[in-house]
Amino acid sequence: MNVVWHGTNEEAFDLIQAIENNCDCKWTDDTKTLRVWTCDVHTAFVKDQAWLDRLVHARRNAAILKGQEGEGEPPPSHAGSC
Ligand SMILES: [Zn+2]
Repeated sequence: MNVVWHGTNEEAFDLIQAIENNCDCKWTDDTKTLRVWTCDVHTAFVKDQAWLDRLVHARRNAAILKGQEGEGEPPPSHAGSC
């Protein structure tokens, strides 16, 4: 099954960096030209649509919560509500 990225380009770059930081793949040597075992994170990245969608959702929720707590970016405004 092919997966489709539903996040932004910035979110994709951050995810790729996070995967590289948490990768546990096994390679034939230090040049990393031939992978002999694929880690769970890389497997999910290419096969698990629900996992990718949950990552985007969780990241966005975390940003909203941080904004509500006065950390990071403010939450999106809801003009016209109240
Ligand atoms: Zn990996």
